[in-house]
Amino acid sequence: MTENEILNIFKKSGALLTGHFLLTSGRHSDRYFQCAKVLQYPEYIEMLCKMIAENFKGAEIDTVIAPAIGGLVVGQEVAQQLNKKFIFAEREDKKLSLRRGFELGENEKVLVCEDVVTTGGSVFEVIDIVKSNNAKAVGVGFIVDRSNGKVNFGYPQFSTLKMEVVSYLPDDCPFCREDIELVKPGSRKIK
Ligand SMILES: [Zn+2]
Repeated sequence: MTENEILNIFKKSGALLTGHFLLTSGRHSDRYFQCAKVLQYPEYIEMLCKMIAENFKGAEIDTVIAPAIGGLVVGQEVAQQLNKKFIFAEREDKKLSLRRGFELGENEKVLVCEDVVTTGGSVFEVIDIVKSNNAKAVGVGFIVDRSNGKVNFGYPQFSTLKMEVVSYLPDDCPFCREDIELVKPGSRKIK
């Protein structure tokens, strides 16, 4: 799929909105992105995860791992397509860990999956879990790179889409100056 085809999937599903948005940070942006919206649709999950699975097809992988909650759907589908085991890490006292009897063995080869990477915090935490179990990370696959390629996990990494996050303080916002209606995503219009 081309970048435009992928962008279209995000727009069609409402995952990527363009306009004038108030972000949770208080900053303004002309784009609003919610990956879960695209992952509502099994056909899109399959298409996007196929790109990740194909990218790592040549790698030796025993297990796919993802941080809950965002990475669950992606990790599950990539594992399905590669026909590998899938486990997930979840937060307990704010720290990601393996629960439910999930284990990683010594030298187990692990592909880390996630939906969206902004700073990569959850993925770095999962990589630490892999390392602390003496397993081996072989790569990181995710749907959207919101760092626009700035985050480097130190392993082969692949995203289906790279997107720059451009936002402004309200006082510097060019869209406010143009008097474009400000919208808070997920709620009623506020202005
Ligand atoms: Zn604004």
